[in-house]
Amino acid sequence: MKRYEASKCLLCNSPLDEPITWKTLLTNQFPRTICTNCEEKFQPYEATDTTDLISLYKYNDQMKDYLHRYKFMHDALLAKVFRHQISQHLAKKKEIIVPIPMHPEKLKKRTFSHVDELLNEANIPFKHFLEKITPESQAEKTREQRINAPQIFALNQNQDLHDKEIILVDDIYTTGTTIHHAKRIILEAGAKSVTAFTLIRG
Ligand SMILES: [Zn+2]
Repeated sequence: MKRYEASKCLLCNSPLDEPITWKTLLTNQFPRTICTNCEEKFQPYEATDTTDLISLYKYNDQMKDYLHRYKFMHDALLAKVFRHQISQHLAKKKEIIVPIPMHPEKLKKRTFSHVDELLNEANIPFKHFLEKITPESQAEKTREQRINAPQIFALNQNQDLHDKEIILVDDIYTTGTTIHHAKRIILEAGAKSVTAFTLIRG
């Protein structure tokens, strides 16, 4: 497994010193990429209201800053920050991991698919069952418009979803519209179950 070793915190640039411990070696953990100080500013999301949706962190100021740098300033290196946590949650799943896709136009602008990269860095295999068919952002619509909007995804051709168990993965869960639409189209295609995993819950 190829490992990227950071010598400085990817968020604040202060030096990282993490001695290789037996625990690190034995558990095959990813070496850290951010300092303890930065890490402590992320708040775990601990609600247990549903098992259909697992989210790791709250959308606090630290996360807002991270997401801005990662997604909008195109700092692809930041995909590494949560690789250990993502791997811990998804590496042993038997379900098929399906990332929420970006519209091709947006992908061109952003140069990389931020959800795919989070999974790549955590060494999680995934399948692109979905295609985004509407370029506009869901954030500009009212709740009612979003829920009643025509499907924002299409199924990729030649994918057999019959009886499959799926985990949808997205970076952030806010209104739930994206997951709602993705879930619906996958279930309609005959999937046995669909749950969701997001890095952040807003
Ligand atoms: Zn730091």
